[in-house]
Amino acid sequence: AAWRNAHNFSGGPGAMPRAVLEQLAQAALEVPEVGLSLYGISHRSDWFRAVVDEAQQILRVLLGAGDDWEVLSLQGGASLQFSMALVNLGCTPATPVDWVRAGYWSARAMAEATAVCAPHLAWDGLAQGYRALPRWDQTTQRPGILHVVSNETVEGLQFRDAPPRLPGRLVVCDMSSDLLSRTIDLDAYDLIYAHAQKNLGPAGVTVVLVRKSLLEQAPSGLPPMLDYRTHARAGSIYNTPPVAAIYTMLLVLRWLRDEIGDLKRMAHINAAKAAAVYAALDANPDVYIPHAQPAWRSQMNVAFRLADPARDASLRRALTDAGFSGLDGHRSLGGFRASLYDAVALEAAQNLAAVLRDWAQ
Ligand code: PLP
Repeated sequence: AAWRNAHNFSGGPGAMPRAVLEQLAQAALEVPEVGLSLYGISHRSDWFRAVVDEAQQILRVLLGAGDDWEVLSLQGGASLQFSMALVNLGCTPATPVDWVRAGYWSARAMAEATAVCAPHLAWDGLAQGYRALPRWDQTTQRPGILHVVSNETVEGLQFRDAPPRLPGRLVVCDMSSDLLSRTIDLDAYDLIYAHAQKNLGPAGVTVVLVRKSLLEQAPSGLPPMLDYRTHARAGSIYNTPPVAAIYTMLLVLRWLRDEIGDLKRMAHINAAKAAAVYAALDANPDVYIPHAQPAWRSQMNVAFRLADPARDASLRRALTDAGFSGLDGHRSLGGFRASLYDAVALEAAQNLAAVLRDWAQ
């Protein structure tokens, strides 16, 4: 089980650090400070209040988010934020909202956003099969709102930098699959959302970072559950939150802080992991075809297919025999995908690279 968990390359829910799994196994029976199973602890307990506060505090330190940012832990997944974020920014069909459509998730987000606004394509990668991202100067540049997905989980495309600051433009970013994988320039953003189940913890909790100044301007009359201010006022304990998911997120955050150190070091390790896997693919260009153009390759999700798809089953067998899991491509793309989230160790990525090289031979 230890080997298989350490070699879980799933796109999400993804791998979890071993030390966290061990603490969870204990917590399922009893959280020592409380004397109860994690699953039976009240969300109104002092213990849980402290869990939420500590998780938010570690997030703030890791990301360098000061008091001008509100940090919320919400439910509904990243999918709820596709519309909720825009609603809280006061979007109407008349608001200029520009959308970078660069992959499966930004396309889905855009489709959902049409319920509350009329998004305009700031750039579209659909015709080229979502193999590249735009340079920022290739996207629409105007005041209003820009929505981007920093890492396209399905196709394995990742922006290297943040959009430039433009007067009168707010930048909203879905960082579901790369938050906490590298340092980010927070100054470039106004609202960031990311679900857990990749680098943050298990599914069930979604983190939103939003500038407090924007919350003050949010429209009145929103349904309370959809209003960020409801959750901000309640310290993210408005209704019953997913206690176990948030506790798990705290354990993952502590692991990142105590075992890795900071996001600079995490980024360094993640770069080495991705380099090992891409090198194995590039060493065998007759066998493997990476999906992304080299300049836009994601360090989190390595999507590829075989030049000869008739051999897919053979590679699948080799990967399973090696004790690896989660390597099937997303259902929309097929092929293979190796997700190298924070909890996947460099050694595991190197083991995968070795099997890919051997099999190609
Ligand atoms: N955004 C990105 C970048 C994702 O990778 C995903 C799911 O994997 C989502 C949004 C949707 O998230 P959820 O299933 O939490 O709604």
